[in-house]
Amino acid sequence: MSEVEWARLKAHELRALAERNAVVMLPVAAIEQHGPHLPVMVDTRLAGEVSARAARSVAGRCPAVVLPTIWHGLSEHHMPFGGTITLDFDTFHMVIRGVVESVLRNGFSRVLIVNGHGGNIAASEIIAQELTLEFEVPILAVTYWLETTAAFDQILEDQENVLHAGEGETSMMLALEPDLIDPGQLAGAKGADGLGFNRAGKSGARWRSLAHVTENGVIGDPTKASADKGERMLDAAAAALADLIADDASWAPEKDLRPDAIGGVRFQRD
Ligand SMILES: [Zn+2]
Repeated sequence: MSEVEWARLKAHELRALAERNAVVMLPVAAIEQHGPHLPVMVDTRLAGEVSARAARSVAGRCPAVVLPTIWHGLSEHHMPFGGTITLDFDTFHMVIRGVVESVLRNGFSRVLIVNGHGGNIAASEIIAQELTLEFEVPILAVTYWLETTAAFDQILEDQENVLHAGEGETSMMLALEPDLIDPGQLAGAKGADGLGFNRAGKSGARWRSLAHVTENGVIGDPTKASADKGERMLDAAAAALADLIADDASWAPEKDLRPDAIGGVRFQRD
């Protein structure tokens, strides 16, 4: 099986991947508290893992290569529990911009930001849109569990999708890093029932700390986790990302359906 990790390849091998128009995956995640039973690396470990599995899985349909994971994300809402590192939005934007610009200067022209942290969802989508306009190539952003909702629903018994440090994330970490999970803490680590700490009204948003809804930093019940569920979740997420990458529509040029007679403004901004 050929290598898919950017950091493990030689420069000439990466030049060859650019020649083949490989998709470059950029995992973005967080270092933040994940309750008393999980290490702070969870989002970073999982975003890198699903990206690497996706790149291997899609290899027969489309070449893909995975950058090292950007481990610092937008985690201000986790700060009260300790163990958390956060960036402000402007810095996060500029870090991703610098990496993406470097990738494009290497001759690649398709980038997929693979987000693995809830606090980065809105930001990564906005950043992808800004960079698409700036560099005039498709820069996509996806949050892996939102691309995998139907499959995760089949696997998870106690909760809808991954929540935070509950059945879902604990299962995937049991599959990957069982030695880093504290079994003595796991038994009493059940947390709040659902997200919603950053919502208002029926569809509004507001900032709040995660401490608004959970005493121990957990949302969901990690005692329902298993390594078998985790392995199936990781493979399901990789398959969903592989399908997104291999779909020509993901990368196709944008259409402009206006007839000449309609006039209007320039389609692309300068
Ligand atoms: Zn997480």
